[in-house]
Amino acid sequence: MEDIRSMVNIANIFSTLVDFPPYPSMIIFTCGCNLRCKYCYNWAIAKDMSEVHSYSLDEVNSILDRVSSYIDGLVISGGEPSIHQSDYEFRHFLCSNSKRFLLKLDSNATIPYNPNFIDLFFGVSITIKPITYYPNRYNTLDIIRDNIDIINRSCSYKELRITVTDEIDELIASCSYILNHKHFNKDNNWKITINKAIKPESGTLMNDKWHECSYSDLENLSNYIKNKIGDIYNNKLDDNITIVNHNMEDMIAV
Ligand code: SF4
Repeated sequence: MEDIRSMVNIANIFSTLVDFPPYPSMIIFTCGCNLRCKYCYNWAIAKDMSEVHSYSLDEVNSILDRVSSYIDGLVISGGEPSIHQSDYEFRHFLCSNSKRFLLKLDSNATIPYNPNFIDLFFGVSITIKPITYYPNRYNTLDIIRDNIDIINRSCSYKELRITVTDEIDELIASCSYILNHKHFNKDNNWKITINKAIKPESGTLMNDKWHECSYSDLENLSNYIKNKIGDIYNNKLDDNITIVNHNMEDMIAV
């Protein structure tokens, strides 16, 4: 492939079996994010990029060339990749790789999507946060609703991830608003996944006010959220809800 120069920094690249099931995939992490979640598992990438080794898109393509016969998918994660959706070289990189891999975007969905950008992806996973994490609260949730409509029109693989923290009322407020959106429904084949936030000692924290929350606390909160979601949906989606513990250790460095 031709040498591609871009303003997008790629902080890391891993192989993964858990981020785009059932497709064995590579996952890349773009730098920069518009949010500042307190449990952020990728603070160095999301906020302070000064100490991040970054790969050029050309280097990433070389790695992908080496593993292309072993993988089916390429996950674009971050940070928040959609902050780069207008970057021409990044779009070129995605477009050329969409011809050999199924592409999936991991996103907080809080930036209005360009439909042409989302068209490049076979799938999108969006993560819902407590409403207090959104600078403009319901205005931001309306952007997420609009983005859900765009995803419905373009993508086959649709996942909504709920990351469970101890801010349960704020999380329920966001979930209720999104799950009650008329275009978020079973007919559009959304899969709901409940993730437990990574324990503080195993992640890099945005905010040192995060207080210790044990795995059993998170398990209880996860079950509570699952029941709440079942209530919102009159239990219609119960079979589609999975609870996973999504840790960086599940990924293998190349
Ligand atoms: S958890 Fe995701 S959306 Fe939140 S700050 Fe980190 S990278 Fe951004």
